[in-house]
Amino acid sequence: MRAAILREHGEPLAIRELPDPEPGPDDAVVRVDACGVCRSDWHAWKGHGEWADDRVPRGQVLGHEPAGEVIAVGDAVDRFTPGDRVVVPFSLGDGTCRYCRQGHGNVCADGSALGFEPDVPGAFAERMAVPRADYNLIERPSWLSARDAAALGCRYMTAYHALVERAGLAAGDRLAVHGCGGVGLSAIQLADAVGARVIAVDVDDETLSLAGDLGADELVNSTELGPDDDDDAGGDPDAADDVPGRIGDRTDGGADISVDALGIAETCRNSIRSVRPRGTHVQVGLTTEAERGEVSLPTDWMTRWEVSFVGARGMPPTSYDDLFALLESTDVDPGALVSDEVGLSAVSDRLAAMDDYDVRGVEVVTEF
Ligand SMILES: [Zn+2]
Ligand SMILES: [Zn+2]
Repeated sequence: MRAAILREHGEPLAIRELPDPEPGPDDAVVRVDACGVCRSDWHAWKGHGEWADDRVPRGQVLGHEPAGEVIAVGDAVDRFTPGDRVVVPFSLGDGTCRYCRQGHGNVCADGSALGFEPDVPGAFAERMAVPRADYNLIERPSWLSARDAAALGCRYMTAYHALVERAGLAAGDRLAVHGCGGVGLSAIQLADAVGARVIAVDVDDETLSLAGDLGADELVNSTELGPDDDDDAGGDPDAADDVPGRIGDRTDGGADISVDALGIAETCRNSIRSVRPRGTHVQVGLTTEAERGEVSLPTDWMTRWEVSFVGARGMPPTSYDDLFALLESTDVDPGALVSDEVGLSAVSDRLAAMDDYDVRGVEVVTEF
């Protein structure tokens, strides 16, 4: 089978022929029909993560947002048979530890990250193996195409888990979204569907325009504002020349929930300072080389105003039914985020384009 392999960090991926995967007793093999290209692939490709001993090794097959069809299963697999339409979450659990048994497979103590670790080659390939398929594999509803399911990829599921399951977002809440890449735009769509009021923050007017089309009620271009420099909760109405202040002005003292969907120090701090007293900041973006995994935070201010800091990573497989139900019952269309369909050999170019934040929406590999 053809697969795109990380040969050297920052260098074009190599397209190579690899042996077709064979299923172990608990595994399924999936024919990949579509796989989203994501900023997490870009982090892996750049070689980020060595500061957390989390650097993706050379030789890895990247790709962690697959949808396709089961073509083979191991003897011990009960829930799936060849021909089943499926989605594969990137955060794979062992299905047996206490976190998995409690429904939190995304933080499995012995889990693995699809497409980021040598024992789970990713989906920039014609075929892929899914370990412990009965626990990890998700049946894809008939109304969800492989292309749209790939766009659902790690962004909708991450946004859903972060906002609804971790931060408790509900109708009427005011949400600030910092960074309108894939996960940020997904967060906007889902929050709009839930009935929240959304303020979108980004550096790019065209991206903000897309955010508005997808359901953001107000748009803030952060390049037109200065750094945060006041100490009041929710910003100072008299000095709304920074992002938290502007959000404070537009929310009567701060957002109920704010999410950093990018992961740089500025968006993280802006997001925290955007919430009202007793509000919740959700961190979804992982940091870059500049932060190396750590951002200094206004802890005294967070303590003074009882602000919660919540982390969120992926989504447990057990939550897919709830996410599918929300999508089906509202007009949220994951496919609306797809800006381009590309072939496997174009992935390198699309990752390189992310260096300059030159990608809008979600690009999906549909030709292998
Ligand atoms: Zn587990
Ligand atoms: Zn992703």
